[in-house]
Amino acid sequence: MLTPIKRLGQNFLQDPNTIRRIVDALDAGPDDTVVEIGPGAGALTGPLADRYSRFAAIEIDDRAADLLESELPGVRIIRQDILKTDWSQLASEMEAERLHVIGNLPYYITSQILFSLLDAAPLIEEAVIMMQYEVAERLVAEPRTKSYGILSVVLQLACEVNILFPVSRNVFYPKPDVRSAMVHLRFPEKEPHASNDPAFLRTLIRTAFNQRRKTLRNSLSRLLTEDMPALPEEVSGARAEELTPDDFVRLADYLLGHSA
Ligand code: SAM
Repeated sequence: MLTPIKRLGQNFLQDPNTIRRIVDALDAGPDDTVVEIGPGAGALTGPLADRYSRFAAIEIDDRAADLLESELPGVRIIRQDILKTDWSQLASEMEAERLHVIGNLPYYITSQILFSLLDAAPLIEEAVIMMQYEVAERLVAEPRTKSYGILSVVLQLACEVNILFPVSRNVFYPKPDVRSAMVHLRFPEKEPHASNDPAFLRTLIRTAFNQRRKTLRNSLSRLLTEDMPALPEEVSGARAEELTPDDFVRLADYLLGHSA
C-alpha cells in the first residue's frame, strides 16, 4: 500500500467495477500500443498489462514505480514527469505509429496534459482519461455557455470529445474533494479543422478568452498588427464565447491573409 501524496494528485482507485469500466473504455485492440499516465499503485496497470503486451506506464513517484516493478515484473514503468515526455520519441521506441493513452490523471496538471496530448495529436489515436467533472464539462461545452472556453475550442478542433460516465468520489482512496468523469478523446489521423498557422490560432483563442467579457475589438486589439485586415463587423462586436471553434479557424486565417 502506498501512502498517498496529495501534491502529486494521488487518489487511488479502489473499486473493481469502476476499474473494469475504465479499461473497457479503450477501443485499442490487443496488438495496439497503450501508454498509461500515472499508474500509482497499479489499479489500472495490472488489468491493462494483462490485456496489452505493448504497454508502458509513466510515473513520477519513485515509490510507486518501485512497487509496480516488484508486483508486475516485466511491465515497462518509465520514471518520468509526464509533462517532460517526448511523445514522438516514446512512439518510436515502442515502434508504434499511434498510441492509445489512458489514465486517472493527476488533477493539478490536467490542462497541461491535455495540451501536451494536443501537441502530439498526430501520434495519438485515442485517450481515455479521468478528470474533474467540471473540466470534462468545459471540454464538451457549447458556445455561449459559461463552461465554453479555451479548452473547449482547442479540443473540439482537434478531436472528438465524449464524456463517458461520471465517477463517484467514493471509489477513491483518499476521496477527492471534487466529482470526476471519464472522458474519451478520439484524434482523427488528419486534423479535421486545421488552420494554416496553428500557433497563431492558439494565441488568438487564448487572447480572446483571457478577457472574455470584452468584445473582440477590445480583447484582440494588441494582437492585431497593421498589416492585418480590420475585424469583420459581425466579429468585432462579439465576445469570444459567441464564436464557434470553426469561426476561430476562419478568423485566424482571415487575419493572416489566407482567405478572403
Ligand atoms: N492510476 C492510479 C489509480 O487510478 O489508482 C493512480 C492515479 S492518481 C489520481 C495520479 C497518479 O499520477 C499518481 O500515481 C501520481 O504519482 C502520478 N503523477 C502525478 N504527477 C505526475 C507527473 N507529473 N508525471 C507522471 N505521473 C504523475
